[in-house]
Order: sequence, then C-alpha cells, then structure tokens
Amino acid sequence: MNKSVLTIIVPCYNEEEVLPETVKELGNILTNLIEKDKIDSKSKLLFVNDGSNDQTWNLISDYTKRYNYITGIKFSRNYGHQNALLAGMNLAVNFSDMMITIDADLQDDVNAIPKMVEKYYEGYDVVYGVRNSRKTDTFFKRRTALAFYGLMKKLGVNLVPDSADYRLLSKRATEGLLAFKERNLFLRGMVPLVGYRATKVYYARKERFAGKSKYPLSKMLHFALDGITSFSIAPIHLILYLGLITVAISAICMIYVIIEKCLGHVVSGWSSLMISIWLLGGIQLISISVIGEYIGKIFSEVKHRPRYTIEIETYTNKMNKQS
Ligand code: UDP
Ligand code: MG
Repeated sequence: MNKSVLTIIVPCYNEEEVLPETVKELGNILTNLIEKDKIDSKSKLLFVNDGSNDQTWNLISDYTKRYNYITGIKFSRNYGHQNALLAGMNLAVNFSDMMITIDADLQDDVNAIPKMVEKYYEGYDVVYGVRNSRKTDTFFKRRTALAFYGLMKKLGVNLVPDSADYRLLSKRATEGLLAFKERNLFLRGMVPLVGYRATKVYYARKERFAGKSKYPLSKMLHFALDGITSFSIAPIHLILYLGLITVAISAICMIYVIIEKCLGHVVSGWSSLMISIWLLGGIQLISISVIGEYIGKIFSEVKHRPRYTIEIETYTNKMNKQS
C-alpha cells in the first residue's frame, strides 16, 4: 500500500495553557500512525499561531526545533480561526495527500484521527468529525447551536449538523475548497459545496482541556451572521414579502379610511397614526440594515484584501528538506 502524507492543522490563539498537552496527544497519535505504517513519515503537525499575545508562539517555535514532525506558521496579527485554518491548508496542500483540521483545546477527541485516516484509505475525500453528544457544552451554547442549524437549513444552506471544523480533506478536496475566493469565510458551509465522496466519524466532545473559549457570544453572533449572509439571500426575499404584505394591509386601510370619510366619521384616530409610523419606520430600518449587510459584504469582497499575512513559517523548509 502506498502511504500518504498527513498534515494535522491546529489553529492557536492564546493557547499557552493547553499547548503542551495538545502537542503530546497529537504527537502520540501522529507517531503511532507513522510507526504502524499507516501514514508517510513526512507527516506533520502544523500549528498556526493566530496572533496570540501570550507565549503560544514561543512554545510552538521551541517544539519545531525539538521535534522534526512539528512545524508552525506565525501570523503577523490575529486574523481569526477560519483564516488560520485556510493558511494551514494553503501550505499543507503542496506537500500532503490529506489534511486534518482540529482545535487546539482538545475538545475534539484525537482518537477519531486514525478512524478518519482509515476512511481516507477507503476512498473518501471528505470525513466530517461529528460529535455524538454535546453534554459538555453549556445549555445556552447547545440551544443556540441547534437554533442556528435549524435556521441555516430553512435558508437553504447545507451544513452537517454537530460538525465544526474537525475534519479530514483529501488533497483534491482541499484544492477544491481553496478555489473558493471569498473573504468572508465560513468553511463548514463551503466544504459540502466542494462535493466528492463524504462520510462521518462520530466522537464525544469533551470539556476544554484548559484556558477559556475564544468564542464569546459577540464573536459567535458575528460568525452566525456571516454564515447566513455569505450563503443565502433569503433575508432579502423576506424583506420583499414583508413589503408586499405591508402594501396589502395599507390598501385595506385606505379603503376603510375612505369609507369612514364618506360616512362622515372624520375624527381619525391619533393612535393608529402613531402605530403605523413606528411600525413602518421599524420595518424600513430593518430592511435597510439587511440590504446594508449584503452591501457591506460586497464591499469587503471587492477589496480583495489578503486574508492573512504570514510572518514566520517553518513548514515548507522542513518538507523540502525531507523530500
Ligand atoms: N482560534 C483562533 N483564532 C481566533 C479564535 C480562536 O485561531 O481568533 C482557535 C482557538 O485557539 C481554538 C479554535 O480556534 O484552537 C477554536 O476556538 P475555541 O475553542 O475558543 O472555540 P469554542 O470551542 O469555544 O467554540
Ligand atoms: Mg473549543
């Protein structure tokens, strides 16, 4: 059997507390797979430091010197989780046959990695890590996540429920994904659009090993909004329907007003006037803001700004030396 090169991509933002444990666990998995001849000995761990302001990069840089199978990317500043994943794939795709992305906090069970690799050899190009329990998430996070998947489905966006950014992609699937040139990244919505044979591997999602979540509510909402407006124009249609309904109601009102006028009841209601002003004003503001959201998106897309800037990178060098 021809062995394939695997690169495990790990985005890190202020993860100094977990990193030693993450390196240990992922390192074990990787070296085990190499020893068992499941993957090529050029396989690597690739840590992407997303502009951390703690010791994360110093640690990574240290590890890259100590272990041959550890490599790193250092961003010039914080560019966000999705861009960190993208940067890792952009580099790794040049040297690897398959790529696995996994969070640094060990919430995703690393033991699913060998199973993913197994699926890859069975001929799958995309293997989603799907959590079969959300017991460790807070009630609030569980509910909001559920509502989000429901909403996205209604809006016609195909997401694999309970899968985040823990997945394996083959080289050609990664190339397909990298061909998407949008700036507003929502990778978990984009992967199903790439196609190819896909399957799932189930695992139990654990508590964060150490440190705090880097996704506070504000970031989560922003991410959800990005997901919706990058993938669906349903909200704009909604505004159209809202407008049509409002026009229909006002037509009925007009008939009513004319009849009242003809009957001589001219003391028209102040309250109804106030209500309509507020209601219509509110609807208009919402509608404009939805349209504005899309224009903003177009604005950020047409600027074609770089999605990240790499300050230091040790992956290419190590791979070149070995090949
Ligand atoms: N992360 C990142 N850049 C950011 C925020 C997060 O690279 O701006 C990384 C973080 O280090 C972790 C992963 O993305 O490896 C997921 O973040 P986190 O575990 O905080 O999110 P949660 O699991 O709470 O949704
Ligand atoms: Mg986490």
